[in-house]
Amino acid sequence: MIDLHCHTNFSDGSLSPAALLERALQADVRVLAITDHDTIGAYGAICDEAHAHGIDLYCGVELSTHLAGCERSVHLLGYFAGEPKAEFGAWLRGLQEGRVKRNAELTARLQELGLDVQWNEVSALAQRQVGRPHFAQVLLRKGYVTTLKEAFERYLGEDGTAWVQRDEPSLDEAIAEVRGAGGMASLAHPVRISRDWERVDEIVAAHARLGLDAVECFHSEHGEEDERRLLAIAERYGLRVTGGSDFHGDAKPGIELGTGRGESLRVPAFVAEQLAERLAMSRGC
Ligand code: AMP
Ligand code: ZN
Ligand code: FE
Ligand code: FE
Repeated sequence: MIDLHCHTNFSDGSLSPAALLERALQADVRVLAITDHDTIGAYGAICDEAHAHGIDLYCGVELSTHLAGCERSVHLLGYFAGEPKAEFGAWLRGLQEGRVKRNAELTARLQELGLDVQWNEVSALAQRQVGRPHFAQVLLRKGYVTTLKEAFERYLGEDGTAWVQRDEPSLDEAIAEVRGAGGMASLAHPVRISRDWERVDEIVAAHARLGLDAVECFHSEHGEEDERRLLAIAERYGLRVTGGSDFHGDAKPGIELGTGRGESLRVPAFVAEQLAERLAMSRGC
């Protein structure tokens, strides 16, 4: 199996990189890319081990970006054959600083709303980088909400009462950074932007001209109709195709590595072939 979109506890997934590798072996995922939010640290932690087990492991990242006319942030996936050059790491550190600032503001905002949420309780849930899902877990544990989804709807999401805008790069900038570091840039789960296919088509067309390489056509949230539409859009602009589950472990229950939600996901072999060809994959870290 192939899975080019998943998260570890280096961002907001629940499994460590080593546990994710074990899960990949169990699930027979042979081509894997870790795409943590704004960090590539997990790759180095299991690279040798993955290759020793015959898994083609790619270094990846998922970036939250802004695009004029879109209320919600637009996610971009970056894929690399090995660790990208140091300049890209420095650019990521800038994004991580933006998170630190947002997290402080979000904590203050929740407290203003009369909720007893302390920064040390939230940060204790994260191995490294704190994300909104960690805030959601605290709200759930304290009984302020009954599901993680409700935590986003009531408080943490764009329409929530504690919503804090984070500094995000533009989609154009993120594409340029990924490409500049030798990576392949893929538009993540486009259905989250819109299911108005003309709008998606327009966004893909405009960004294909700016270096967007691929469209994530296969994803746990995509139905068969979505896949067909997105494959047609990718083909229209001569773009490659990526796909993955967006596995987060217990942080997003019901989504399995490799197979997605209820076995609905099946990333075809040509996706791995395109990625290997684009990145001229060589084994080894
Ligand atoms: P952050 O990057 O810290 O702003 O957190 C964003 C992450 O929160 C996303 O990548 C998802 O994993 C998660 N998330 C966002 N919206 C929701 C939602 N409505 N329900 C559950 N998880 C969500
Ligand atoms: Zn996530
Ligand atoms: Fe995403
Ligand atoms: Fe993701």
